[in-house]
Amino acid sequence: MKELEINHVYKDYKLGNKSKFNALSDINVSFEKGELVSIIGESGSGKSTLMNLIGGLDSDYTGEIKIGGIDLKTFKEKQLDDYRKKKIGFVFQSFNLIPHLSILDNVTIALTLSDVKESVKLEKAKTILKKLGLENQLKKKPTQLSGGQKQRVAIARALINDPDIILADEPTGSLDSATTLQILDILKEIADDGKLVIMVTHSEKVASISSRIVELADGKIIRDEKNENYQPDLKETKLIEENVEKTEKPKKEKHLSIYSSIRLSLHNMWASRTKNFLMALGVTISLISMILMLAFGSGLTSYIDSLAQSYASPTIVTVSKSTGSADNPMGAIMDLISPTAYADGEIETVVNDINTYLDENYSDLEFRVDADQLDYGFSTLTAAAGMGGNASATINFDVDGQEKSSGIFYLYTTPPYYTEEQLLAGTLSGGPTQDETTGESIGQIMLSPKIAEEMGLENIEDALGKIVTVKVSYSINNVPINIDEKCEITGIVDVNMFATSLVMYVDYDYLASLVSKQGGTLAPTSFYIHTDSESTTDIINNYLSTTEGYTGSVENQMASMFSEMMSTFSIALAIIAGISLIVAMIMILVVLYMSVSERTREIGVLKSIGARKRDIKKIFTTESFLIGLFSGIIGVIFSAVVGGLLILLFNSLLGFAPLTFHWYYFVLALGLSVVISVLAGLYPASKAAKLDPVESLRHE
Ligand code: ADP
Ligand code: MG
Repeated sequence: MKELEINHVYKDYKLGNKSKFNALSDINVSFEKGELVSIIGESGSGKSTLMNLIGGLDSDYTGEIKIGGIDLKTFKEKQLDDYRKKKIGFVFQSFNLIPHLSILDNVTIALTLSDVKESVKLEKAKTILKKLGLENQLKKKPTQLSGGQKQRVAIARALINDPDIILADEPTGSLDSATTLQILDILKEIADDGKLVIMVTHSEKVASISSRIVELADGKIIRDEKNENYQPDLKETKLIEENVEKTEKPKKEKHLSIYSSIRLSLHNMWASRTKNFLMALGVTISLISMILMLAFGSGLTSYIDSLAQSYASPTIVTVSKSTGSADNPMGAIMDLISPTAYADGEIETVVNDINTYLDENYSDLEFRVDADQLDYGFSTLTAAAGMGGNASATINFDVDGQEKSSGIFYLYTTPPYYTEEQLLAGTLSGGPTQDETTGESIGQIMLSPKIAEEMGLENIEDALGKIVTVKVSYSINNVPINIDEKCEITGIVDVNMFATSLVMYVDYDYLASLVSKQGGTLAPTSFYIHTDSESTTDIINNYLSTTEGYTGSVENQMASMFSEMMSTFSIALAIIAGISLIVAMIMILVVLYMSVSERTREIGVLKSIGARKRDIKKIFTTESFLIGLFSGIIGVIFSAVVGGLLILLFNSLLGFAPLTFHWYYFVLALGLSVVISVLAGLYPASKAAKLDPVESLRHE
């Protein structure tokens, strides 16, 4: 049985317009082990075409190509990959070494594709490289070698799997005459070791040293001659050690491991590190902006929340009427501008509902709401008379005999949770007092610190004790209320959330008495429940947050309004971040796609060595994964650094930092980076896997 038998092989290349080009026509030839065959012929005569068919790189032909008696046509894709890996060794005119891999890695690549043990790989490669006189070049890159050295590396690579057939397409075409002879010697030695060596050459001189010359012209064999003078050199030492695995076939075929795939990718990424770094930077920028947006969103919300918290008492529940809801944030704004008053009996209903809820869900809890624990409150945004509010208020005062007045932004009854600590000056006021000399009733009011500024006072304390005229116009159930009262400023209250506004606080009962003097009835806009403990407060607050129509204190309303605005805002931010990630993804896709076309030849080489489609896909997918991982890591580190600096900056400027970094933002960013990279890499990877090996090798 012949090693290689070719019967009636025809090969047509399909041309674009449904026509064909006949490159081989009725080829009949067979070869035996130990032959050193030269295929000669004019350029375009079909030599490379024939080599590609024999090498299993091109399966589109008619006729029979039998290896050891088995027709290549019967091979499935997997067997064909295996055939290229184990049976055939390719040597090319342009060497086709992989530029970013070391000499050693170039030689062992075929073993790497079979996941051969590191130590075995190293030993095999070193033995061959030593025999070819390259033992000192292991660590070098291909570009650091001469042409002859490169071709010897390529031969070492072809030999590493101990193939039966070596196919060399013009192996000396790029070499000078001295190196040509060296390479021919090596090829002869391989043939003399019992392999079938088929080489394509242009030169009759090269051909003359071979054991047989086959000449092609226009796709036909026109000459097939044995060289009678050929002297095989039957040395004892062989260039290649017998392949042990070949005799005892391993049970399970092994393939490119993840580890090797990562290693190959890292080599390539390092080779184009500038490009990769710039690409990672692009991804990084979108990750940083995403993380910062999230951090600002949650930082601002929790800052406002904590402000609101600092004005809440742990044992008081505030219940305000609300028209706002989660999906109606404008309602929350309206609640602030013009709070809705409770109707008659409505508070009792709410209290009953709370008690029923406590009965049903917290029967063990002793606390129930009764009338003793209630206080009432009223607030309105007086400055918003034209904006849906229906109240206005001013205070008029004397400064050195001159009448002056200031608008009041917010009218607020003193809530029960205000404490001495929140007083900047004066005392918390109660109801009206009697003027000792005139017997006149004088009301008491408290103001926010901003008011002192409006009054032109040097110190806020100077406002204390001043008698002012308070004018409030308001309408209750269409009954106009016009309050015009003399009041004494008894306290300055620091309410952070309104610190920069003009706020007037009066006692609820006092305000109610003023309203009733005008013939109206003050209806509360909120009521307060004094609870027995913080946990009871939480229970009732939780209940209220699930019921429509009621919210907490003004501060709570502000906080929830803010967080609702933020959540609307964050959707917009998330969309922007999403778009920037898509841009980053397209950028990765373009770069990887370009890298596939840059590496077309490398892919061709890998396929000629026996890489499966899956192996190629794996290498490219690993690379996109690693790009995502590195971009993610860089992005996370940069975000942490930028975030840290921003926190320092805000702390020194504002005394607080409206950014909160949760660990899961970083995990999310890292995860997204990996996911978008891998997704972006899918298309280039599958394109790479599908590349036709013959065309890839021809790629310039
Ligand atoms: P050689 O190696 O002998 O120079 P080839 O085997 O490369 O010749 O090519 C044989 C003929 O087939 C040439 O005429 C060439 O133009 C043609 N040919 C090779 N590859 C293709 C292809 N992919 N499509 C069309 N024609 C091709
Ligand atoms: Mg050719």
